[in-house]
Amino acid sequence: MLPQFSLQGRRALVTGGNRGLGKAQVAAVAASGAQVVFCGRDEALNAEVVAEMAAQGLTVHAVTADITDDTQAQALVERTVELLGGLDVLVNNAGTCYHAASFDVTDEEWASVFDLNVRALFVLSRAAARHMKDSGGGAVVNIGSMSGAIVNRPQWQPAYNASKAAVHHLTRSLAAEWAPYGIRVNAVAPGYVKTEMSPVDRPELRRYWIEDAPQQRYALPEEIAPSVVFLASDAASFVTGSVLTVDGGYSVY
Ligand code: NDP
Repeated sequence: MLPQFSLQGRRALVTGGNRGLGKAQVAAVAASGAQVVFCGRDEALNAEVVAEMAAQGLTVHAVTADITDDTQAQALVERTVELLGGLDVLVNNAGTCYHAASFDVTDEEWASVFDLNVRALFVLSRAAARHMKDSGGGAVVNIGSMSGAIVNRPQWQPAYNASKAAVHHLTRSLAAEWAPYGIRVNAVAPGYVKTEMSPVDRPELRRYWIEDAPQQRYALPEEIAPSVVFLASDAASFVTGSVLTVDGGYSVY
């Protein structure tokens, strides 16, 4: 059974791979046998992660890029194809969030959430799919969020919630459109995960973020990455247009 979950021989691009969920995904995808390129804007941090992975016996490549710039996003895909000889798996992980209520959120904050979480994801998916289509198929895994289905408390974050709902429905739309080309498109919708983006340890959030969850805890990034590997692999050959919720049961209530 395990060979179906292997990514041996696959060529993968992970966005936002220098910390948080993305870094765990880079390690998991590489450890599953794929060649991996990841991106991030912080060149020094990218280099640190390449060295850290090398110390674990994993060879990965970093490309420094701001994917909200369409030209850089396009160039990232081309560079990945050049480095790896093709592209079979795209993981759209990079994302951003502001805790800002609707009367307070600035135009700049709103725009930056949609530019990264939705627009960059679409630009990269389309650029990657053009290659996948020509080489017989591939897999796109989008990192959505349980916030695409529920409204978080106590913090208001309308821009983020709407952007992740857009990610989930774009996932379904592209899955339908690209199925004839052998390209599967799925999403993972995590609950609270301990990263720089997510202040899971703040005492005032505990009542809502932790106690409201059936498992009564947050996740570590390493608990989300295996779902990305599954959706990228042949084990998910009949899975497309799905949103896999990985939230410790948070959204059942
Ligand atoms: P982090 O803020 O910890 O990491 C974000 C990553 O994205 C970094 O590697 C960052 O690198 C990169 N990044 C940000 N902006 C850009 C950009 N413009 N161009 C290229 N890379 C960029 O976030 P998380 O790990 O917490 O989140 C990862 C994903 O998971 C997001 O899509 C998020 O919405 C989702 N998610 C997270 C949850 C959580 O609780 N943490 C819950 C549900 C979903 P750099 O700064 O160097 O560019």
